Amino acid sequence: MRIAVLAGGVGGARFLRGVRAARPDDEITAVVNTGDDVTLHGLRICPDLDSVMYTLSGAHDAERGWGRAGETWRIREELTAYGAEPSWFQLGDLDVATHLVRTRMLDAGFSLSDVTAGLCERWQPGVTLVPMSDDRVETHVIVELEGRRRAIHFQEWWVRHRAKLRAEGFVQIGVDEAVPAPGALAAISTADVVLLAPSNPVVSIGTILGVNGIREAIASSPAKVVGVSPIIGGKPVRGMADACLPAIGVPVSAEGVGRHYGARSEGGLLDGWLVSEDDSADVPGVEVRAIPLLMSSDEATAAMVSTALELAS
Ligand code: GDP
Ligand code: CA
Repeated sequence: MRIAVLAGGVGGARFLRGVRAARPDDEITAVVNTGDDVTLHGLRICPDLDSVMYTLSGAHDAERGWGRAGETWRIREELTAYGAEPSWFQLGDLDVATHLVRTRMLDAGFSLSDVTAGLCERWQPGVTLVPMSDDRVETHVIVELEGRRRAIHFQEWWVRHRAKLRAEGFVQIGVDEAVPAPGALAAISTADVVLLAPSNPVVSIGTILGVNGIREAIASSPAKVVGVSPIIGGKPVRGMADACLPAIGVPVSAEGVGRHYGARSEGGLLDGWLVSEDDSADVPGVEVRAIPLLMSSDEATAAMVSTALELAS
């Protein structure tokens, strides 16, 4: 079976570990959000691709949720000593090597898809990772800052301001010209099942769906589409999705997100929608099932994925 998964960073990565555990012999492709990507200190950084790559290969720091296990921070200390801005973004020494290799390959003319495949040769994630697009798309957040309305890079809002500044809206700079990465379209159009990971519906899944042609590819794919709610009991499990959903007018609930994705039969995306056992959701035209949705272990996540695949069959 061919499974395509739309995924963001940490939530997407955990979910993908479960997909791999549930279906070790299947062909799994993750189409990963790149709207969080940013260039800092001359390095091209792809947080979601790296979270997925490190987590699937077991090299991630499970406690922190992002970056490498056993990380050290000497480069950051040196940058601080130089007063090099931005100081709010943490760059670990081990992680910097990844960004150096990536930046050098991009500068040499390789596409982000090629670079990602190259990095994965080392990490062997067991899942094919493709960026949503090889074109640059960067999410900016419209906020009020120092008495002015401004658009700041998603990372500045998320990391520096901890999403505490109210988001008035999100703009995906570059998305109008961006086309899907070749592997992303191929994975969706040849998939038997498309899964929407319980990733942030606005700045992870929403950004991927904003790339020209991805939504259409899902709509016209023969695959069944099943999504998993990132909202349990009216709250995101971790992260700050509750700071994003209100900005696009979506209620912070499993039902709200399900309705936002919508039924395929009505021009939306979903055939099936998984919500937590304690939640209920009425999403017209979509088969909703309530099961445990906490990704507390690969086994628990694999059980969730098996239910998603059952819904799809
Ligand atoms: P990011 O790019 O690192 O922010 O990660 P994602 O966008 O992939 O995932 C963030 C989302 O994952 C958040 O909205 C969380 O609510 C959701 N999430 C995290 N852990 C769990 C979990 O155990 N179960 C479910 N259902 N959702 C989760
Ligand atoms: Ca992210």
